[in-house]
Amino acid sequence: MNLAVWVERNARRWPDRPAIAVGEDVHADWSSSATRVAALAGGFRHQLGLRPGDRVAIVMRNRPEYLEALFAIWHAGLVAVPVNARLHRDEVAYVLEQSAARVVIVDDDHDELATLADDIDTLDTCIVAPDQRWTELASASAMPITDRRPSDAAWLFFTSGTTGRPKGATLTHRNLLMMSLSYFADIDAITADDAVLLAAPISHGAGLYALPHVARGAVSVVPASGGVDGGEIADVLRRWSGVSFFAAPTMVKRLASDPAILDADLSGLKTIIYGGAPMYLADLTEALDVFGPRLAQIYGQGETPMTITALSKADHADRAHPRWGERMQSVGIARTDVEVRVVDEDGAEVPVGEIGEIVVRGDVVMSGYWEQPGATADTIRDGWLHTGDVGSFDDDGFLTLRDRSKDLIISGGMNIYPREVEEALLRHDDVAAVSVVGRPDPEWGEAVVAFVVAVDAEQPPTVEQLDQLCLEHIARYKRPKDYRFVATLPTNNYGKVLKRELREQLSDER
Ligand code: AMP
Repeated sequence: MNLAVWVERNARRWPDRPAIAVGEDVHADWSSSATRVAALAGGFRHQLGLRPGDRVAIVMRNRPEYLEALFAIWHAGLVAVPVNARLHRDEVAYVLEQSAARVVIVDDDHDELATLADDIDTLDTCIVAPDQRWTELASASAMPITDRRPSDAAWLFFTSGTTGRPKGATLTHRNLLMMSLSYFADIDAITADDAVLLAAPISHGAGLYALPHVARGAVSVVPASGGVDGGEIADVLRRWSGVSFFAAPTMVKRLASDPAILDADLSGLKTIIYGGAPMYLADLTEALDVFGPRLAQIYGQGETPMTITALSKADHADRAHPRWGERMQSVGIARTDVEVRVVDEDGAEVPVGEIGEIVVRGDVVMSGYWEQPGATADTIRDGWLHTGDVGSFDDDGFLTLRDRSKDLIISGGMNIYPREVEEALLRHDDVAAVSVVGRPDPEWGEAVVAFVVAVDAEQPPTVEQLDQLCLEHIARYKRPKDYRFVATLPTNNYGKVLKRELREQLSDER
């Protein structure tokens, strides 16, 4: 099935009910939304000459056109490539090349990307939404929904996986359907009276979790500021009922102490789904005090979108349970639609309580990395997705993450792969070696710290020069918050840098 049928179905059932809103204002009802989606799809196919299976990238901040583009891409049988809008131009170019996207849709904040069409052979054109070209596309003749098989690609979710440069986790229509159905099974039932607030980036968790809401006819609310602001959320809660939103733990923590939220009437708030990074128990307890039993945690990754385990609202509310504290530090129990195991290095399941790598199998797991058979074979072995995360189950089936076998840093809910930062810093002629790690940070979860070995210890590069290199080559949020100039980096017998030692050094300082 093609996920775009949801929009068409909602238009028949609830033509006049709101489909998309910006803050408190309705942007489109289901009828006009479906009309626009079908026309845009016609425009993509007949004006732009795209064929089923072609990739269309989206680089936009959260705005109504994002959702319209996404569903129009599916309606037309195309594959969406939602790109993190905060990436550096070179990083965006890399994703466009890897996915061989023929079209990129951007907003006016990203219109400088238009010149990429000159640099990238496979890229035909850049469309700025909403401008005249977009309006022309939206005025094309509506086309019927293109048939899609469950195994056809719908969304290429670019992630760095366990190693190296970003790869496109190929999420099929079936994967996203399973993700949506298991939301109903494990998180919440949703009705057309509900709303989903798209506070976090649509290119990531917020966009994925918009889907179960669209499936049930709930309204998608884009914050007018495009981000998360306590005052704005309070306004949204006054205007809309049954509001759910996905947020990184750092956002939840910030909101829990926001005066506008503390004063707000939270009766319109249904659920805050947090995940993507660990949440400290003290922060979670404080958030529960503020929001009440409206928090659910999910553990997932791009390769198995938003769906490995969940800690339900009921688990959060069960404070009388003798192991409540322990459970709140776990990531919950396996989702309905997946099998989750903890395995040793040979892939054999380890007993309850023992630590090993977390592997997942089920219909939500990606079909593979786009055009990367080698990386796919390394990650999906014997039908099991190897997450790169390390954890253990308890007797009741609650999974606790113990470590990340990959060196991923999660700062402010954004994933930062140390290697990308290291490569930017190594461009400096005066840098001999560098290793980047995360340091626990009360505000951001983790902060990026770079250990730098200078070619000449007497004349190390300056922090300004290193910062400048980062600004030139990687997204701003990946830039180290702290540089440490050291004589050598700790290494093992094979010469591999012992990041764990660097992390320990930082935590000893604390
Ligand atoms: P991404 O593919 O960008 O969604 O990142 C996925 C990674 O984020 C996972 O492999 C975990 O390492 C981490 N992660 C996701 N959810 C949680 C969670 N609830 N608690 C701790 N870490 C998480």
